[in-house]
Amino acid sequence: MVRFISVCLGLRLWFVCIIIGIWKLLKQKGAGWMDIRVGDVLELKKQHPCGSRNWLVLRVGMDFRLRCQGCGHELMIPRSKAEKSVKKIKRSEEAQP
Ligand SMILES: [Zn+2]
Repeated sequence: MVRFISVCLGLRLWFVCIIIGIWKLLKQKGAGWMDIRVGDVLELKKQHPCGSRNWLVLRVGMDFRLRCQGCGHELMIPRSKAEKSVKKIKRSEEAQP
């Protein structure tokens, strides 16, 4: 038991680091979480070279797969990056509960 406690104390710094890391991650998630679904059209802050700002969501997960509505270009970007650059979510089905 004493050994266990000393190990715990030795790892305390690590625990604090990990807890802070998780807490920050959760906080970030909570603040920036967006309800983005397949079929949604995202209006991004940054304009694509073709002139369009609208991207159709083809797949969601850790990464988003988006298709440019202007030129049809497809790309994968990490969720965090996508959420930061989204200006507006346009959902075709307005009658969602
Ligand atoms: Zn484009």
